Amino acid sequence: MDHTDTPSTILVIEDEADMARVLEVNLSTLGHRVLLAGDGAAAAARLQAGRPDLVLLDLRLPDASGLDLLRDLKADLATAAVPVIVVSALGDEQTVVQALDLGADDFVAKPFRTRELLARVATALRRRPTPTEPEPALCFGPIAMDRASRGVVVAGEAIEFTRSEFDLLAYFVANSGRVLTRKLLCDQALGSGGAVLERTIDAHIRTIRRKLGEAGRNLVTVWGVGYRLVEVS
Ligand code: CA
Repeated sequence: MDHTDTPSTILVIEDEADMARVLEVNLSTLGHRVLLAGDGAAAAARLQAGRPDLVLLDLRLPDASGLDLLRDLKADLATAAVPVIVVSALGDEQTVVQALDLGADDFVAKPFRTRELLARVATALRRRPTPTEPEPALCFGPIAMDRASRGVVVAGEAIEFTRSEFDLLAYFVANSGRVLTRKLLCDQALGSGGAVLERTIDAHIRTIRRKLGEAGRNLVTVWGVGYRLVEVS
């Protein structure tokens, strides 16, 4: 069994009983241990009791905003590294972007296809931090990057990238599978402190895709939200 299939503890924060049950059944079937919290207070108590491997977070809770919970979770050193997948109703795009800006790893729109949700869960669990391992090489499929020389090799061929393009691509590779908003890319990947316009990101992405050639299709647009680097079959 590969470590990505190791059973994990998943905290499901969801107030709709039917939705919580669907999530619990599906995740349990894969062997994961599922903890349920129906409101913000229960979620806080669960987090206090122990660190889960992953959180599935509904944004509209009876006693709290999922965004506030997320902000607290990311502000607490004990839980900051726990990946969070927002499970939110369609039409909440603005809120979803806010959640991603606050450090959520991914979002799944309700209603969701179970297989897709489980695939997202597997991806998020794979990204769990392993503090004992050295910083991993920047590789994704045919893309190999070297931070020291700022060199990029794609399918065996060296390709020139500008400084901004390199920083963006490195950030995507280091955060593969995660949905990255334009704001995050400006602030975290480019460290622009607001100097780079978010639409500049779109222009960079077009160039990066072109330079990546065939591998460029792995850099997918998440409409209305941002981009993510994923395996495209
Ligand atoms: Ca809800």
